[in-house]
Amino acid sequence: MLGIVKAKGAVLYDEDGKEYVDGISSWYTCMYGHCNDFIIERVYAQMQKLDQVVFSGFTHEPAVALSEALMQVLPANQERLFFSDNGSTATEIGIKMALQYHHNRGKKRSVLLAFEDGFHGDTFGAMSVSGLSVYNGPFEDYFIDVKRIPVPTNENIDSIIDQLINDIDLDTIAGFIYEPLIQGAAAMKMHDAVGLEKILALVKSKGVLAIADEVMTGFGKTGKHFASDYLEVKPDIICMSKALTAGLVPMAITSCTQEVYDAFYSDEIAKGLFHGHTYTANPLACTAALAGLELLVSDEIQENITRIIQWHQDFDAEIKDHPKVSATRQTGIIYALDLNVQMERYGNLRDRLFQHFMDSGVFLRPLGNTIYISAPYVTTKAQMDKIYTSIKAVLEFL
Ligand SMILES: *Cc1c(COP(=O)(O)O)cnc(C)c1O
Repeated sequence: MLGIVKAKGAVLYDEDGKEYVDGISSWYTCMYGHCNDFIIERVYAQMQKLDQVVFSGFTHEPAVALSEALMQVLPANQERLFFSDNGSTATEIGIKMALQYHHNRGKKRSVLLAFEDGFHGDTFGAMSVSGLSVYNGPFEDYFIDVKRIPVPTNENIDSIIDQLINDIDLDTIAGFIYEPLIQGAAAMKMHDAVGLEKILALVKSKGVLAIADEVMTGFGKTGKHFASDYLEVKPDIICMSKALTAGLVPMAITSCTQEVYDAFYSDEIAKGLFHGHTYTANPLACTAALAGLELLVSDEIQENITRIIQWHQDFDAEIKDHPKVSATRQTGIIYALDLNVQMERYGNLRDRLFQHFMDSGVFLRPLGNTIYISAPYVTTKAQMDKIYTSIKAVLEFL
């Protein structure tokens, strides 16, 4: 275990003073840089005014201001927001919304649809819809019933549509949860919008609610504010966390359409969505999120995003034909490459790569034979070059 004592911008500092470029934005959170002065000042001011209050029967200015600002950047069909406190609960709430939406309308739909190899978090509903893995083995007996389909490609999309029409009873499906365009935990596996669009159009026409898990993809990483912005067919529900609060404190929001909301709006108490966490809509978290949103839409950050996209493209042109590289892919500021290594030669590959990166002052977390970059928008060219150089060194020693 390495002690990290300080962070600023795109850089982490360990207890010996050694610096590391944070190539994955501490799990895609601190996109505007660590300890961002603008965000800190705003949160500090808020701290002196109102730190925490129950978000039940009460409301507060940071939550209202954040809601208004978030509505400006969310896909236009999103009209209602439900606050909670981390990515797993954001998806858990999305799942509960979908199940109860049908229940409230007097229809029993108890199955969920999800992509193979997805990751949606570590609570029970979220585990249920995530790809099957050894980590979740002990709990599988308690999972919600889930049907899984592969992520779409040009080759398999027709067979997926066929499967959805002939093998899966869509009338039993409450919701389809998916990571739009990029499956983060599945080593930044990317799929294009065309196939996803076809799946969404079909399932939505059968009354299935589309739940976009944008916990990783949200807030600019794909080159647009949300990955769903690349699609014509919009989700009914969107799950957000991670970069929502710019890496300062945890918080999450699950948004939905007016139509979903209306299924819960009733004088009958049992129709309400009863899900509340103690720190729901914490004022400091809301303040950090609002400051982050202001940065996201600023010319400066948008220009940074455009610049990083170009740097990655240039880097890709340089390395994609290298014999040690078997595949590369990019969506927005997320770049991934697969190393051309035989399975049997894996051994401790991941550990060796990680150590190499750390030794060269770069924090990257390879997944299997995949190396990916998702550095903060404020990363300088020199810092990004340090990442590129350390990756190129891998191609030489591998
Ligand atoms: C990280 C992540 C989650 C879970 O978020 P936590 O805050 O870690 O609970 C859910 N979905 C996706 C796509 C994620 O990347």
